[in-house]
Amino acid sequence: MRVVDTIAELRQARAQLQGLVGLVPTMGALHAGHMSLVNAAREDCDTVVVTIFVNPTQFAPNEDLDAYPRDLPADLAKLEAAGVDLVFTPTPETMYPSNYQTFVEVEKVSQGKEGAHRPGHFRGVATIVTKLFNLTQPDAAYFGQKDAQQVAVIKALVRDLNFPLDIVILPIVREADGLAMSSRNVYLNPNERRAATALNRSLQAAAAAYDAGERHPERLRQTALAVLNAEPLAHVDYVSVADAVTLEELTAPSENPILLSLTARVGLPRLLDNCLLPYSLNTREALTRILGGEV
Ligand code: AMP
Repeated sequence: MRVVDTIAELRQARAQLQGLVGLVPTMGALHAGHMSLVNAAREDCDTVVVTIFVNPTQFAPNEDLDAYPRDLPADLAKLEAAGVDLVFTPTPETMYPSNYQTFVEVEKVSQGKEGAHRPGHFRGVATIVTKLFNLTQPDAAYFGQKDAQQVAVIKALVRDLNFPLDIVILPIVREADGLAMSSRNVYLNPNERRAATALNRSLQAAAAAYDAGERHPERLRQTALAVLNAEPLAHVDYVSVADAVTLEELTAPSENPILLSLTARVGLPRLLDNCLLPYSLNTREALTRILGGEV
């Protein structure tokens, strides 16, 4: 496994790669969710490239950029064991030198939900992903359902800017009690860790209502919200019931699959979770096709 941290080394290493190249962009502090993307890329592609970069432009000034968990030695050991070929670990100065002034904005799907709560976040995401696509020129890039609106932003980016690559979406990997794995879960104390299961429990409650025939978006939203509100340590930011293809908020029952997404602060971290409804659509194949539309 080759590890490089400069643009020149990355370009030189990329030029030597043969066959299908799969890219997995990450911010490090790798867990089994990240590794599911790496393993999928390893199965599909001849060469796997992973990037580890805590991207400052996707953090708002009041967010946890400095405190974001970092553990490069442990990350590299996991990637080596998984058979990764090339790892890119640039510094912020390498990606954003002092005269840096170009940003990418994806308009419609960046609005609302995470976009409303994290101003500038998706501009930072779209910019870094564009740069990583240009630098690594992958045939396929792997992302997690966990960041569902990010998936829609990246799919729009790939369509609109004509990147010649496939986007593959992998389902959320969860702890045994249902909590979605996240690098930020390390911030949770034992009580908060127990309370954090309310996010998945609220998705499950709405999924059960959907299975029982409920289709009205507001009633599905209230079903999820009631479970979250019953947990005193969870402070809800939003519960969204949206069209899974367009990500537009639903106000009336729709024939299309639904993206039910929510965020809540539990202790320090803001936690995210989501699912497609019907629940049977939370698979690689369905997510890749449906979430954020076709590439
Ligand atoms: P991050 O390092 O948080 O930027 O995440 C890198 C990639 O891993 C993104 O595409 C995430 O959506 C994905 N990811 C994060 N958590 C999970 C999870 N629990 N299951 C599957 N994918 C995940």
